[in-house]
Amino acid sequence: MATETLRRTGVKELLAAATLDREVLVKGWVRTRRGNKYVQFIALNDGSTIHNLQIVAAAEQFPEESLKDVTTGACLAVRGQLVASQGKGQAVEVQATEITVIGQADSASYPLQKRGSDQKGISLEALREIAHLRPRTNTFGAVLRIRHALAFAIHNYFNAHGFFYVHTPIITGSDAEGAGQMFRVTTLPPEHPPRTADGSVDYAEDFFGKQTNLTVSGQLEGEIAALALGKIYTFGPTFRAENSNTARHLAEFWMVEPEMAFYELEDNMDLAEDFLKSLVKYALNHCADDLAFLQEQYDKELLGRLNFVVENDFQRLTYTEAVEILKSAKQKFEFPVDWGTDLQSEHERYLVEKHFKRPVILTNYPKEIKAFYMKLDEDGRTVRAMDVLFPGIGEIIGGSQREEDLEKLQARMQEMHVPEDDLWWYLDLRRFGTAPHAGFGLGFERLVLFVTGMSNIRDVIPFPRFPGSAAF
Ligand code: ATP
Ligand code: MN
Repeated sequence: MATETLRRTGVKELLAAATLDREVLVKGWVRTRRGNKYVQFIALNDGSTIHNLQIVAAAEQFPEESLKDVTTGACLAVRGQLVASQGKGQAVEVQATEITVIGQADSASYPLQKRGSDQKGISLEALREIAHLRPRTNTFGAVLRIRHALAFAIHNYFNAHGFFYVHTPIITGSDAEGAGQMFRVTTLPPEHPPRTADGSVDYAEDFFGKQTNLTVSGQLEGEIAALALGKIYTFGPTFRAENSNTARHLAEFWMVEPEMAFYELEDNMDLAEDFLKSLVKYALNHCADDLAFLQEQYDKELLGRLNFVVENDFQRLTYTEAVEILKSAKQKFEFPVDWGTDLQSEHERYLVEKHFKRPVILTNYPKEIKAFYMKLDEDGRTVRAMDVLFPGIGEIIGGSQREEDLEKLQARMQEMHVPEDDLWWYLDLRRFGTAPHAGFGLGFERLVLFVTGMSNIRDVIPFPRFPGSAAF
C-alpha cells in the first residue's frame, strides 16, 4: 500500500540529492552484497549512472535468512531513509526499512556472478556471447550512455546549425552506390527461385519487381535533399557485406552523412573538424563519470587524447604530400606505398600517431581509388576527396566535394562502368539547377570507439553483426 504512495527515485538523482533524512523508494539491480553479522551493504545500480547506491540493511531488521535472494543480479525495490553516509566512498546511503525482491537471479547460474558485474574476471570477448546481459556491466553501461550522448549531440549540433534531418531508404533499388558489397533483400524462395528463359534468377518476380539491397550509404539520396533544403544530414543504419574481420568494421553500422549545397572542399573540412570537436567536447562535458571509469579501467590516456583533439587544429595535407612523407619514413610498412595506391590503415596511423601526432585530413586523392561522384581537380588526376584520420582509429570520416557538372560526371561514370540507367535521377540533379555541393560520412561506431577508448568496434554497439555472427 505505502509503496504506491511513495514515488520511485532514480539512483542518479538520489546520489545528487540536496535534501536528506527523508523516506525514499528506489529500484534496481544488485551489483554486490557484503557485510558482517551486524550489517549488510548492498550496492544497487539502476542504469541511470555508473555509480551504485549503497543500501544498508541492519541485521536486527534483516536477518541473514531474509536476504538470501538478495544476490548479484537480482532486482530489488528498497524503501528506506536517505541519509548522509557514515562510511567512506559515498556521500549518501539508504538505510533500508523494506526490501522486496522483484526478480531473483540464481547465484549458481547467473553469468555475471563473478566479481560483481564489472568486466573483471570475464573477458570482453566472452561478454559478446551474452549480449543480452552485458549492458548490466559497468563497462557496457558506460559505453551505452556515452553512445546515447553522442547520438543526441549529433542531432543537437545539426539542429543548431540549420541542418534538416532526412530519412533516406534502407532498402535501395540501385546497386551503384559504389561503397562496398551489398546484402540482397529478396522474398524469392532460395531453393527454387523463378527463372528467366536463359536460366538466370528472374528478379522481375521479386517483391519489388527488381533486385534490391540494403543500403551502404544514404549519400546519393542525401544529395537530392541538399539540392532542395540546402543543408541536410542522414543518421541511419548502413550495411556492408564485406568479409572484413577487423576491430574497426561491422556488417551493420550507423552512419552520419551531412550534405550541403554551396559547400566546397574547404567548407566541408571546416565543418568536419568543428563537428568532431564539438561532439568530443559534448562527451567530455556530459559523460565525465563514465569516461573517468573507462580511463581508469582500460586506457589511462583517454581523457588526455580527447582533450587534445578538442584543443588542436587538425593537420591538413594532400594525398600526394602524404605519400612523399610515407616514402621517406624510416618505418617499414607491410604494404608498400606509391602514388596511386590506396593507403592502408598502417599508413594512416603512421601519419596520425607518429608523424603529425594529431588528427589529419588528407585531400585530393587519385581519382582511380575514389568514387565516381567526386569532383575532378583541375589537373584531371585527382579528386576533391577528404578523409579524416584519427589516432587509434584510422579513417573516421570519408567525404568529398561532388561533381556537379553533368558531362564530367557522365564521363567519370563511363570510365568506371557505373550504369547511367540506374542513376538517371542522380544525373537529373545536374540537369536541373545544379550547384556545387559537398558532404561526408562519419561512421558512428568509429566515433564511439574513439570517445570510449574501447579497442574493438564490436564492443560499442549493443548487438554487433560481423561475418559469422548475428546471434542476438
Ligand atoms: P574503410 O576504408 O575503413 O573500410 P571506407 O572507406 O570503406 O572505410 P566509407 O565508404 O568512406 O568507408 O564510409 C564512410 C565512413 O563510414 C568511414 O569513414 C568509416 O568511419 C565508416 N565505415 C565504413 N565502413 C565501415 C564498417 N564496415 N564498419 C563501421 N564503420 C564503417
Ligand atoms: Mn572512405
